[in-house]
Amino acid sequence: MTTAAPTQGRTETYDLIIVGAGPAGLGFVRALEGCGLDIAVVERQPRSILADPPADGRDIALTHRSEGILRDLDIWPRIAAAEVSLIRHAKVVNGQSAYALHFDHRDSGKDYLGRLVPNNLIRRAAFAAAREVAGVEVIDGRSVVAAGSNEETAWALLDDGRRLQARLLVAADSRFSETRRRFGIAARLRDFGRSCIVCRMEHDEDHDDTAFECFHYGRTLAVLPLTGRRSSVVVTLPSDDAAEVLAMDEEAFGRDIARRFAERLGAMRLLGERHVYPLVAVYADRFCGRRFAAIGDAAVGMHPVTAHGFNLGLRGAAVLAREIRAARVREGDIGAAGGLRRYHLAHDRVARPIYLGTNLLVGLYTDERPPARFARDALLHLGNLLRPARHAILRQLTDEAA
Ligand SMILES: Cc1cc2nc3c(=O)[nH]c(=O)nc-3n(C[C@H](O)[C@H](O)[C@H](O)COP(=O)(O)OP(=O)(O)OC[C@H]3O[C@@H](n4cnc5c(N)ncnc54)[C@H](O)[C@@H]3O)c2cc1C
Repeated sequence: MTTAAPTQGRTETYDLIIVGAGPAGLGFVRALEGCGLDIAVVERQPRSILADPPADGRDIALTHRSEGILRDLDIWPRIAAAEVSLIRHAKVVNGQSAYALHFDHRDSGKDYLGRLVPNNLIRRAAFAAAREVAGVEVIDGRSVVAAGSNEETAWALLDDGRRLQARLLVAADSRFSETRRRFGIAARLRDFGRSCIVCRMEHDEDHDDTAFECFHYGRTLAVLPLTGRRSSVVVTLPSDDAAEVLAMDEEAFGRDIARRFAERLGAMRLLGERHVYPLVAVYADRFCGRRFAAIGDAAVGMHPVTAHGFNLGLRGAAVLAREIRAARVREGDIGAAGGLRRYHLAHDRVARPIYLGTNLLVGLYTDERPPARFARDALLHLGNLLRPARHAILRQLTDEAA
């Protein structure tokens, strides 16, 4: 870890430096509204992209808790209602079996299990909300190339030579966070050797607001309901096969997905582009260091199968913001070790079981050996039969704030 602050050139002083203006970093900024902090947000993408990010194929499933946090942060009202879809049912299917583990919103006592919102619209709304926070300077089009801390300050060096210092530096710079590494914090990385292709498709039949997770052998297919006769499709496959699937022409791709989905939605047609993401899960050894904290994917980068990544990121950012607010009220130090440690412990307690459980599920449902296939089938049947187990999963899916 680099400890000495750079000495040459002018140093600009803030209360807080945030590296990364993704949805977690921007949500965090908004959560600090009214704290009276001078905040520098450093982001390598240009402002034009932050203000109006292009579609990236991701439709983010949000829990009730996340919807509540986004409302509190005044981000939710900035997302057009017509772009928000409902998930009322969720079905899990093993192989080509017609049997499904079924989660029904009525069993949860809610009108819906969760909502789906395009990632770029979350980012756009979060940027607009963050810009309204007094005392925030967004330094766009710039990367942090070195960073560190000593007992009194944290500092960051930008690629244009600017030097920033603050009492606390927060990394929100993705699961491959360079800033986390610069603060000497290791992370457990799990490379699944797979990629996912995400896209939107239209189809002939109604989806009845049902999300499907189909654990086929060799590939998994998630089909998530969007408004109208449209769905968000996520194909998970060995990384080497991704290029071949991307090279398929649109018609062949549509036929292939409809066939793999057992024609449940009739004929399917691609809408827009297909996007590819490598599947690598990451869990930082600690979410804090000396005058340092990691949030969002920089703390916990999830496999998307259980749709928890951003939900966890939002939750963690809200916890850290609460600690900072409390320090301000006490007129204390926002980078003091006690508050950062409390954030680490609280977030770790929530995130670890979800992270480990998700990886276990991925392991089981990508294991092609006969015992695993049997266990998969047995689990789905048990899940339907055992009401307490189903209700526990339902609570996880909706994740209503206590
Ligand atoms: C296919 C897919 C589907 C998903 N579905 C869901 C879902 O249904 N539900 C859910 O909750 N989550 C889902 N997720 C996860 C979710 O997308 C992520 O958790 C979320 O986007 C992470 O946000 P972030 O702000 O932490 O990181 P990012 O979005 O990665 O943003 C990091 C930012 O930091 C910037 N940056 C990086 N390095 C530097 C540097 N050195 N200097 C300056 N800036 C830097 C980057 O440019 C970027 O803007 C999904 C993910 C994928 C891939």
